[in-house]
Amino acid sequence: MIKSPVPCRLLCSECLATFPAEVMEMTGTGGWLESDLCYQSHGTFPYPYLVAVCPCCGWAAYIRDFEKLAYLPRYSGGIMAKALRDYLREDRLRFPGSKKYSLAAASYARAGAPPVFIGDLHLRAVWCARQERSPEVEDHHLEAALLWFERAQAGGLSGFEAARAAYLLGELNRRLSRFDEAVRWFNRVDPAPVWLRSWAERMCLLAREKNFVLQVL
Ligand SMILES: [Zn+2]
Repeated sequence: MIKSPVPCRLLCSECLATFPAEVMEMTGTGGWLESDLCYQSHGTFPYPYLVAVCPCCGWAAYIRDFEKLAYLPRYSGGIMAKALRDYLREDRLRFPGSKKYSLAAASYARAGAPPVFIGDLHLRAVWCARQERSPEVEDHHLEAALLWFERAQAGGLSGFEAARAAYLLGELNRRLSRFDEAVRWFNRVDPAPVWLRSWAERMCLLAREKNFVLQVL
């Protein structure tokens, strides 16, 4: 599995264009979790590299939903190295992680993906926006994630998926200073594994104290 970004040529499933993108296949190990379940480590922040946007048609999706044609060689110099470097730099500026996840949420919603899946894409946009230090974008996606997780709960989630969504609804409301709603959702994180219940109890106490600050779990 690839643990740091590498350039790869992808094939768009929608328009069949091919294009280079930096990709990763996993988030890594040995880091820590923030209270909205964002994985952090001392290595590369992985989430922007787990999705890609087709530059031709704008279709955006997880890397696993593109066909990988070939990993590109590490050009040591010359025209190819410069062209690839310039392209990837421009791509990073045009499509920061939060934008990629925003487009991916729209693409998957059009394709009829389940609400909890769309909620998770907006949640990842929240994590990326925080990394990008864009509080307005972060708030926008906090609201969108709430909407989709609420829709998922209304549609009847069960088991661990229901408990996880309830925890996230508590935590996202807490981050938005909606403490009464947060407490209500944290109280619905049951039945759930012991570790998730203990996180919910911790965050619920903070919500009662009207504390919206992100925590390390
Ligand atoms: Zn395309």
